[in-house]
Amino acid sequence: LVNPSVLTQPVYEPGKPIEDVARELGLDPATIIKLASNENPFGPSPLAKAAAVRALDQGELYPDGGCVALRAKLAKVYQLEPAQFVVGNGSNEIIELLGHVFLRPGDEVVMGNPSFAVYKLVTLLFGAKPVEVPLVNHTHDLAALAAAITPKTKLVFVPSPNNPMGTANTEAELLAFARGLPEHVVFAYDEAYAEYLDNPPDLRPLIREGRKVVCLRTFSKIYGLASLRVGYGYASPELASLLNRVRQPFNVNAIGQAAAIAALDDGAFTAKCARENRVGLGQLEAGFKAMGLEIVPSVANFLLVKVGDGARVFVELQKRGVIVRPMRAYGMPEWLRVTVGTPAQNQRLLTTLADVLRG
Ligand code: PMP
Repeated sequence: LVNPSVLTQPVYEPGKPIEDVARELGLDPATIIKLASNENPFGPSPLAKAAAVRALDQGELYPDGGCVALRAKLAKVYQLEPAQFVVGNGSNEIIELLGHVFLRPGDEVVMGNPSFAVYKLVTLLFGAKPVEVPLVNHTHDLAALAAAITPKTKLVFVPSPNNPMGTANTEAELLAFARGLPEHVVFAYDEAYAEYLDNPPDLRPLIREGRKVVCLRTFSKIYGLASLRVGYGYASPELASLLNRVRQPFNVNAIGQAAAIAALDDGAFTAKCARENRVGLGQLEAGFKAMGLEIVPSVANFLLVKVGDGARVFVELQKRGVIVRPMRAYGMPEWLRVTVGTPAQNQRLLTTLADVLRG
């Protein structure tokens, strides 16, 4: 009766919400910090918050199903056409839309390993085969990804910066990779953390050249709107229209749309968050190094640190009110991924980790 892809589908385990941890451990939620899901510790821009509250005045109405205003805004920001955008319930949904449009059982999807878990989940859900290519120096090996492509390959996912590694590929590398792809493959370039880079790669030339590329972005990271679930993709009008065809009519809520539009207007806030993130990364790197711990140098808003028994340290940190992300599911049981927090949160993490490792 049930689709076999569903029965064998692995379950995505997100970072636990603060409320859950508080209940399980009998802790006061106000004393817990969550540095587990790469959210922005400074929250959303005040402009985005105000817009979200205003949107509630029309809370009884369905949202703008086509995200017309948000797509018009994005078109201005990117100097593309509104028809080149698709907005999703988080960029996770756009990854799933790619599956709806392109994947049938037996197809192949090329991705790095480790990289963002949802690529594999969506691939398996559609009965397609994930072809996982090991990283080199903790970074996507684009030549190896290209070499893994077969006539059955439909999609190749490259996140840069990559989650969970925090490493990035250069614009020149990405452009050359895309230009070398065969016609039958769609390149999904996931730039969820691009706003943290000084000079994020610009892959719009590929779209102008008519190449099959979809760039994915999100309001969950630097824009601090993870709770509202808004992400988007941009591509050629043809590709964007295919993705728009398979989404649900009202896939993105009105509060999220309003907040996202306002967030795009607050460039000063975004720039401040990027600056603070660099300081926080430096603080964590220095702290971990002082403790003699190995790290993977990161350009994103999170950092991998090698702690030994990752599962144990994760649990001990959690008992002390610090939620991070264990990396066992990514095949890195000795590592934890920690999100860059505020200076005070970073200090708390460092002090608590030192305490756990000593005991
Ligand atoms: N891509 C990458 C690389 C991510 O790390 C994440 C969030 N963990 C996403 C996409 C999905 O983000 P969202 O669905 O919140 O937009």
